[in-house]
Amino acid sequence: MPDATFATPADLHAHSTVSDGTDTPAELVAAAALAGLEALAITDHDSTAGWSEAADAARAHGIALIPGLELSTRVQFASVHVLGYLVDPTDPGLVAETRRIRESRLTRAEEIVRRIAADYELTWDDVLAQTTVGSTIGRPHIADALVARGHAETRSDAFAGILHWRSGYAQPHYAPDPLTGIRLIRAAGGVPVLAHPGTRGAEEVIPDSRLRRLVAGGLFGLEVDHPENTDAAKPRLREMARRHGLAITGSSDYHGIGKANRLGEHTTAPEVVERILAEGRGSAPVLP
Ligand code: AMP
Ligand code: FE
Ligand code: FE
Ligand code: ZN
Repeated sequence: MPDATFATPADLHAHSTVSDGTDTPAELVAAAALAGLEALAITDHDSTAGWSEAADAARAHGIALIPGLELSTRVQFASVHVLGYLVDPTDPGLVAETRRIRESRLTRAEEIVRRIAADYELTWDDVLAQTTVGSTIGRPHIADALVARGHAETRSDAFAGILHWRSGYAQPHYAPDPLTGIRLIRAAGGVPVLAHPGTRGAEEVIPDSRLRRLVAGGLFGLEVDHPENTDAAKPRLREMARRHGLAITGSSDYHGIGKANRLGEHTTAPEVVERILAEGRGSAPVLP
C-alpha cells in the first residue's frame, strides 16, 4: 500500500490487443500518458496477459497503472461484465475460470464464423489475422475480418449488422453468473466493480434484489460514468450505489480505434481509487 494519498483521477477501464483493443499494452499506456492521464487501469477481457508489458510502460512514462481484468459473466442470454482490480493473476480459481471462458470464446467464434461463411466469403484465417497469439477472442475480431473482406464499413457497422444478435449468426459463449464472478475476484484478492450496468436504459438496470446478493458477495462498486450507460440509467445507478454503500467509478472503456471511446473521457475520483488500492490484495499497482 502506498503511504501517499492518491491524488489524481484514473481511467479504470481500457483494453489492449491482449483482448479486443487495437493498441498493444505498451501503446495503450503511452496513449494514456499522451492524453494527460496520470493513472490508468488495464482491463482486458478474461486475461491478465498484458500486465507486465503495461507495467514496464507505466514505469517508463511515470504514470500509475492499476492491473485489472474484465471478467465475462452472464445472466441467461445477457452478458454482464465484472471488472476486477488487483487480483492475484496466479490464483488457481481465477486462472481456471478465465481459461474456460477464453476456450469457450474460441469455439464460439469458430461457430459464428462457420455460420457467417454460409452466406458471406469469410474464413477462420481471416479472423486469426486480426488477433495476436494468445489473445482473448471476441466478436470485435470477427468484425475486423468482415471489414477486411469488405462486408462491413467499420467494426461498429459490423456489430450493427452481421454480428448483431438479431442477424442470427452470433451466439453466446460460456460465462459464470455474476455472483460467482464477484466471489472469484474477491477470492483472488481483487476488487470487483460491475461494468457499464446501465447500457440498456433505466428500466433494465439490475433489479434491487439481485444487486443486494451481489453486494453480499463482495461487490465494491458500480461503473456509473461510462460512455454507454444511458443518461436515464445514471441517476438510478447513483441512487442504488448510495443505498447499497457502493463506490461509483468512471472510465472510458477505450478499445483503441475499435470503438469511439476516448481515453479519459470519464474518470474515477482519487478517493475511490485510493479505496481500491487499499482493498486490493492480490497484486501491486505501479505507482510513480
Ligand atoms: P463479445 O465479447 O465477443 O460478445 O463482443 C463484445 C465486445 O465487443 C465488447 O467488449 C464490446 O466492447 C465490443 N463492442 C461492442 N459493440 C461494439 C461496437 N459497436 N464497436 C466496437 N466494439 C464493440
Ligand atoms: Fe471489449
Ligand atoms: Fe464490457
Ligand atoms: Zn470493456
